[in-house]
Amino acid sequence: LGLRLFDTAQQRIVDFRPHSTVRVYICGVTPYDTAHIGHATNFLSYDLLSRHLERRRHRVHLVRNVTDVDDSILPRARELGVHYLDLANAELARFTKDMEALGIRPPQEEPRATESMETIIALIQTLMERGHTYQVDGTTYFDIGTVPSYGSLSGYSHQLMLRLSLKRGGDGPRAVKRNELDFVLWKPSAESEPDWDSPFGEGRPGWHIECSAMAMSAHGTTLDLHGGGTDLIFPHHECERAQSEAATGEPFARHWMHCGVVTMAGEKMSKSLGNVVFVHDLLKRYEGAAIRLALMQRHYREGYEWQPDAVPRAQKQLQRLRAAATGSGGADPRPYLARVDAALDDDLDVPAALMAIDELAASILAGGENAAAPSALVDLLRFLGVDLGIGLGIEERVPG
Ligand SMILES: [Zn+2]
Repeated sequence: LGLRLFDTAQQRIVDFRPHSTVRVYICGVTPYDTAHIGHATNFLSYDLLSRHLERRRHRVHLVRNVTDVDDSILPRARELGVHYLDLANAELARFTKDMEALGIRPPQEEPRATESMETIIALIQTLMERGHTYQVDGTTYFDIGTVPSYGSLSGYSHQLMLRLSLKRGGDGPRAVKRNELDFVLWKPSAESEPDWDSPFGEGRPGWHIECSAMAMSAHGTTLDLHGGGTDLIFPHHECERAQSEAATGEPFARHWMHCGVVTMAGEKMSKSLGNVVFVHDLLKRYEGAAIRLALMQRHYREGYEWQPDAVPRAQKQLQRLRAAATGSGGADPRPYLARVDAALDDDLDVPAALMAIDELAASILAGGENAAAPSALVDLLRFLGVDLGIGLGIEERVPG
């Protein structure tokens, strides 16, 4: 395998050497304001990674969790006056439909936090037995002082870690905590919130421990690749790594792949800020394939500001590709196929792959001679998940 990918922990592009079945874990959605363009961009990157690995003859086992109980879905359900699992199910159904419309294939496994409580509790118990936890007022904390490598995934300074943990759900410095960055593994539920029985009291898990438990339950102690948005590097993934390795004594993830965050008006999209573009709204006006093409114009590591004209432009590009697909001949497709593979091997450079495909299309529209060009174009686009909705690829083409 010639794939090279940027690894967050090492801060450089490295050879990606997975098991023959690639064990991937991606942090999924908290189903309460899901399926905006930011989610789609993120999950599309891992869909493209899977497709490229499969083309390279790997099997991919991609696990993407559902955080159906945490500090953000419960207040939202309360605000709407609905049961949090009803909210989760409705949002999840919409999310699944929207991802499908964009050609983002479902994960091989989609564990839900509320259905993983036994594993979560068992993992906290292991941490307790190994001396990595302490309890204050019914809340069980992870003691980061017991893990010397804490902070080495993100490489952030203590000040930055503190600022981000406060911004992203941590409970910050409290006199009772041993270290101000210690995080919650288990805590008593607030009034009207769901709770579960555990050896450390009735309550519910913290967010980070849910992912560690679900990831290791699906894949064993060591993943080939752990993914998510760059906004999850700290504290979420830093905490996941610390507690997982503390529990097993083994490396947790051999590779960390993070995707840039899409912004609007300079801020990460979020319902509370009102700067959200939902996939289902775009689907009322544009084809799923056009939205997908629009999101493929950026390298996965690049955070970017959403451009309202990105989808209309991609819709035009799609029409051009369609016209080319029905052409009769173009350039010899082999160099273009090689360019696509090389681009994807180079830290999953999808925009460069698309550029090669566009040039192949241009050679067809210019009336080239090689009759294999149009079907090669269709196959390349299908491999990248862009459904032209016309024509047949090489394998389905009836001979004669
Ligand atoms: Zn997670």
